This record gives sequence, C-alpha cells and structure tokens, in this order.
Amino acid sequence: MLADTAEVYDASAALCYSANSLNRCGEKRKDTEWVNSLEASPDARFLIQANDAFIFNKEVTHEPLIHPVETLKSLNVTDATTIFLGIDETDGNRPYFGVRYTADAETLDEELEKLGTFAAYGLRGIAIKRAASQRVLGMMAQAASLGRWHSTHKMCSQCGQPTKLAESGYRRDCPSCSAQHFPRTDPAVIMLITHGDKCLMGRPYHLMENVYTTLAGFVEPGETFEDAVRREVFEEAGVKVGKVEYVASQPWPFPSNIMIGFHGEALTTDLNIDYEEMEDCQWFSKEETLKMLQGEAESGLICPPDISIAHHLIKKYIEEK
Ligand SMILES: [Zn+2]
Repeated sequence: MLADTAEVYDASAALCYSANSLNRCGEKRKDTEWVNSLEASPDARFLIQANDAFIFNKEVTHEPLIHPVETLKSLNVTDATTIFLGIDETDGNRPYFGVRYTADAETLDEELEKLGTFAAYGLRGIAIKRAASQRVLGMMAQAASLGRWHSTHKMCSQCGQPTKLAESGYRRDCPSCSAQHFPRTDPAVIMLITHGDKCLMGRPYHLMENVYTTLAGFVEPGETFEDAVRREVFEEAGVKVGKVEYVASQPWPFPSNIMIGFHGEALTTDLNIDYEEMEDCQWFSKEETLKMLQGEAESGLICPPDISIAHHLIKKYIEEK
C-alpha cells in the first residue's frame, strides 16, 4: 500500500497509518487562544470517536470520516475531549482536531441509526476496507492514540487526584501536585528472521485462523531495539539471532504502539516454542512464503494483510534476496 502523499522519503512513509500531512505546530499549540480560534473557524475539521470507534458519514463519498462542526452538533456530544492534531499545509492550512466522547456501547449503533446518516467503525476495519485515504488514516492513528490516552489517564499517577488536559491535548497537568504527564507511545519490535532460503513465522493465539506472521514483542526498559529482537525470538521460538537490520517503523494505534521493523539472521534453526505465547512457529521456504503472501498456498496458510508492517517485512525479504 503506497502513501498518497506527494513524496515518500523512506520505507516507513509508505505504510498504513504512517502518512500524515499535518504540521503539528509543536510550539504554537501551547497558545490556547490561537488553538481555540482555529477550532472556532468554519474551516476546522474533526475526526470524531465514540469510545474507540470513528464516526462515519454514510452520505459523504469523499473522506466520510472527516467532519465539519455541524456533525458534532448533530451528535449532541457533551463530554468531548478535543485534541489539536495540526494544520494541513497541503489544504490551505486547514486545522484538524480529534474529538473523543463517551458513548453507551450497547445503544451507540441504534442512536446513530436514528440520526440517519452516521455509523461508527473501528480503525482496523476502516484500513482494511480502504474507507479512508492513507493521509486520513495517518491522522486517525494520531487521534486514536491521543484520545485513548486521555480516556485512560484522567487521574494523576503520582497523587491520585484528577488531571486536566493541557497543551491542546499533548499533556495532562495535575493541579494538586503540579505533575505533568505526557502521552505514551510503547515501542514494540517486529522482525522477520531468516536463515538462507527460509524464514521464521509463527502464530500467536489471538491471530486469525490460517495466518502465520513475523514474531514481535515489546521493548523492555534498559534494552536496545536490536537486543529486544534477539531476546523475543529466543523466548518465543528458541532461535538465536545474530545480525539485525532496521527496515521501517509503523505507528500502530491499538492503542499506542510504534512497531519497529527488522530483518534478522538466525544463528541456529532448532525450534523450542513457548506454547504459552505461541500456538506454533515454523520455518517456511521462500517459495511457500511468496504463495502465502499472495493467498495462493495449497496449505491454505496466509500472511497478514498489507495494512501491517509484517506484510512488508515479508515482502521485502522475498523481493530482495
Ligand atoms: Zn498529582
């Protein structure tokens, strides 16, 4: 999947959730008055989430997930958390905001149905169905991660008192103890490990049936990305890894990860699978892997879809070596 931005300077920019044409205005967004004036402008556009789902306007054919302020009014949103996402310099400096409100999950679909034109969809499904452009998926990833962080960090982790949104959504301040809290991004390594003409893929338990994918895991405190790759592969599959090479990274807003993608060379091939984490791990030939990627393997096994960096790590290995 290629980004629909004019220029792509690196492998990461071509991945789903990566393209983002917004200038986040890191310095200017501290000026609340300036941000408020942008929000009140008729040019302002909103990405709206009811809990974790994005509001979609079924009557709009071009970018049905980007809304004018009138949508917020029709939804009768009262407890909204509003975050300044940035201004789009490719679209006349149009300001974009993320809005997240709390909805009763059981009645949400029914409530939206009553309004006639709206529905609520999850971000993963939106990407798979290509219901938004790459540019908008990038903004949605930003809005989803920030919105979720605000919804789960309402209390101060130092003193337990309520915190308040600050810096247009990029900080929460505690009025009681003066602590400042910043949005978190959790780094996770994701890696295709190869040995000559074979690559190592596995099935974590949560994965869809028949899918085999690259191994992955969270980076631990005090650890380099490269060592995290070696540790995770040894823990999950019992394979020792030597050389590790960075390929690309991808924001993965479920809820707030950054996936850091690598190719790694195996030093050993015997498997010792951690069945608490993995249902299975196997070495696959390059020929078989290509068929799995294309959905043509006789075994019926497949690789993940092209919205994930895993797909691209596998594809790059097949194309390059
Ligand atoms: Zn506090």
